[in-house]
Amino acid sequence: MPVRILIIEDHVDNLELMSYLLKAFGYETLAAGDGLEGLQLAEREQPALIICDIQLPGIDGYEVAKRLKHDAQLRQIPLVGITALAMVGDRDRVLQAGFDGYIPKPIDPESFVQQLDPYLLKTPGAPSHDAPMTSEPASHDAPPPREPMAPLG
Ligand code: MN
Repeated sequence: MPVRILIIEDHVDNLELMSYLLKAFGYETLAAGDGLEGLQLAEREQPALIICDIQLPGIDGYEVAKRLKHDAQLRQIPLVGITALAMVGDRDRVLQAGFDGYIPKPIDPESFVQQLDPYLLKTPGAPSHDAPMTSEPASHDAPPPREPMAPLG
């Protein structure tokens, strides 16, 4: 069974880029366009990892993190923030909100999936792109780079 990753992101271009990159590395993705939908999907699908934008319609990423981390079961799912915020102190705010880490926007297609590795180490069956797979010697090269994206809120 493929490892499933939930992406909560309101910008379609960004969502599609992340989903595309993850699928290229063998992950299955679930997508939510706002925080409440993301919480519902997390509860129903119990993904191996949650990637969450900070600025979202309705409840923002900070509130999503707070609610996830107040749930005995959902709090165990690694939660990675995606943020264009660059101000000093935002890193602390993101981590204090309950995120286990964050990845800055714009998404770097060359390194995005590798940046998630530390959060997937404990997941059985997570695809490894460091070592060749024994059952499927297909290329694990990164997908072709796209045009760099402008930072999106
Ligand atoms: Mn956003």
